[in-house]
Amino acid sequence: MTIREVRDAVRSGARSASDVCRDALARIETINPHLNAFNTVIADRAMARAQAIDRDRDRWRHAPLAGVPVAVKDNLCTSGVRTTASSRMLEHYVPPYDATVVARLEGAGAVIVGKTNCDEFAMGSSNENSAFGPVRNPWALDRIPGGTSGGSAAAVAARLTPMALGSDTGGSIRQPAALCGVVGLKPTYGRVSRYGLIAHASSLDQVGPLSRTVHDAALTLGVLAGADPADATSAAESVPDYTAALTGDVRGARIGVPRALLEGIDAEVARAIEAALDVLKARGAAIVDIDLPHAKYATPVYYLVSTAEASSNLARYDGVRYGFRANPEPGTRNQTLQSMYAQTRARGFGPEVKRRIMLGTYVLSAGYYDAYYLKAQQARTLILRDYDRAFTDVDVVAMPTSPTAAVRIGERVSDPVQMYLMDVFTVSANLSGLPAISVPCGFTSGSDGGPGAPKLGGSPASEGGLPIGLQLMGRRFDEATLLRVADAYERDTEWSKQPPPLIPSR
Ligand code: GLN
Repeated sequence: MTIREVRDAVRSGARSASDVCRDALARIETINPHLNAFNTVIADRAMARAQAIDRDRDRWRHAPLAGVPVAVKDNLCTSGVRTTASSRMLEHYVPPYDATVVARLEGAGAVIVGKTNCDEFAMGSSNENSAFGPVRNPWALDRIPGGTSGGSAAAVAARLTPMALGSDTGGSIRQPAALCGVVGLKPTYGRVSRYGLIAHASSLDQVGPLSRTVHDAALTLGVLAGADPADATSAAESVPDYTAALTGDVRGARIGVPRALLEGIDAEVARAIEAALDVLKARGAAIVDIDLPHAKYATPVYYLVSTAEASSNLARYDGVRYGFRANPEPGTRNQTLQSMYAQTRARGFGPEVKRRIMLGTYVLSAGYYDAYYLKAQQARTLILRDYDRAFTDVDVVAMPTSPTAAVRIGERVSDPVQMYLMDVFTVSANLSGLPAISVPCGFTSGSDGGPGAPKLGGSPASEGGLPIGLQLMGRRFDEATLLRVADAYERDTEWSKQPPPLIPSR
């Protein structure tokens, strides 16, 4: 069921919140062992909460998420519930407070059933960097779900919960949404509070929903969005009724396509995007070519800026304040503070996190700051200006979310640069602070993809049926237009309705 269906059933009394919650927990118990989508399931707490909603129906009668079971990425703090960021460093960390988004979900009547697996500290593009093992893609269990909100995407795709929260620093909501065949929305930077989100790169991080439909993403955004005194970067802009924007009318909307950027992508992905643009054109939108001359630098710029910020954010995990502390090896005497820091960080962080800390420290170091960090910030401004210029002419920019469909688990882990290149289409939105959404737009056919087509992740694209995502980007704080176009597209297609064949539908 979608959020809307569950919520309406609970509000009308057709189903109790407890019933809905019990079903969701039972389904998680049977299906999650195949996916590893959850780090923690909080069955007792969820049932208690659902029963409290049932006991006080009047209070929740108009709540936008009344009785809706939801999952929350494990880098969002939940009071009294272990929050690990999928790291050994925080394996036993129990926050004393809720992230603002968690409090807002519960205030809207949602029932949190668990915390979803992700890449360690939200660093990765495949969910293989989790200290608790990779998440599996519900469409093909030997493939990645995408990262870093892979557990959230898998949970929604496998119909475990109608919505899950993710976080997006460089594509981590949109890319797993695309690879798992669900909707993923990254709001404008500042639209949603980051208070209680475990920081990866503070100028890029945003929280947002993964859901089955655009409507549910719009509904959830309305709950999450708005200023928060606890986050000075949250914006004061008023929050419109996003669901009211879903009129289906895109006549006259101008959709920009950066053709030059799309050269050389997987042929099946390219075909699906062209077909999606045709659907929007048939609804009356105008498709126009745009030029984003600096967008090709987005990936290197992102990996300089994000690692610099991450190296600073992760300095707090020193074994003193909270989280893991390495005790001295037996027989070692006179452990120094320095060696305690070093051992804590050597054992607490996984390899990708260490790589980022080293890279980030390097680009911020005295001799290289100007050559790398400063240069990256300048290039970031040029990328942002490209988009601002494009948005004087178009309402929305369209491109693929990911250059390929889901690759096999293990296929890219040994080559970090190949992994980073999977982010080529998603990082620009974070560098520019723009809102962006991924909506399902087809499946790989399993054919050879046409003459000269790049092979899917280095292996023959012989297995079809893998989801492909269309990415739409919008003007800052204009999520309403973005959602309207995405919803109009969804109305004319059936992609979102198909459940993964491997997953029992009941
Ligand atoms: N894949 C990107 C990275 O590894 C984005 C991660 C994210 O959005 N959290 O940094």
